Amino acid sequence: MGNTYPFSLKPLPYPYDDLIPQISEQTLCFHHDKHLKTYVDNLNNTIKDYPEAHGKTVKELLMNLDRLPENIRTPVKNNGGGVYNHELYFSILGEMCSTSPSPALLCAINRDFGSIDGFKEALKAAALSQFGSGWAWLLSDKEKKLSIVKTPNQDTPDLSKYTPLLLCDVWEHAYYLDYQNRRADYVDAFFKILDYERISRNYEIQI
Ligand code: MN
Repeated sequence: MGNTYPFSLKPLPYPYDDLIPQISEQTLCFHHDKHLKTYVDNLNNTIKDYPEAHGKTVKELLMNLDRLPENIRTPVKNNGGGVYNHELYFSILGEMCSTSPSPALLCAINRDFGSIDGFKEALKAAALSQFGSGWAWLLSDKEKKLSIVKTPNQDTPDLSKYTPLLLCDVWEHAYYLDYQNRRADYVDAFFKILDYERISRNYEIQI
């Protein structure tokens, strides 16, 4: 229930004040209860008259956009991406969490970015260079090689080729109340609240 139409707003997996001082309770309330909820509602409204889309998960919808009627592809991409991206974003954050990657993920980070600091620099560069709204991602491919990409709007990477391990929301709604225009400060704070246990699991059980 909730994994296919009608989609429901999944609860935030931790208390709203859990990420203080990096992210305020007010930001998390608006971000989860208002912004994510709007994407959920708009996705439901978009596909409500299209039963062929009703048995699919959000990920399945995003991976098979070309099988949908042409007139709903863009709203499904935008609102489905909004749901998929935010559920993943909230799931990889947490204050009382593991602060270092698993041995396997750490090994891959060192191999592909030189060091944890090298990984952080690359992700931060992607987050800061995304013009306007979008996301910066850490991905793993089928050979478990890591890469960093950025996407505009609510676009997702090709989910048939890559497993997202973590992502940073650089829409202003993610940080404006706390950091105003200082996106770099928000990204630095983001690194302090990563749940590496969850991120490592994403790497190890990737499908
Ligand atoms: Mn957001």
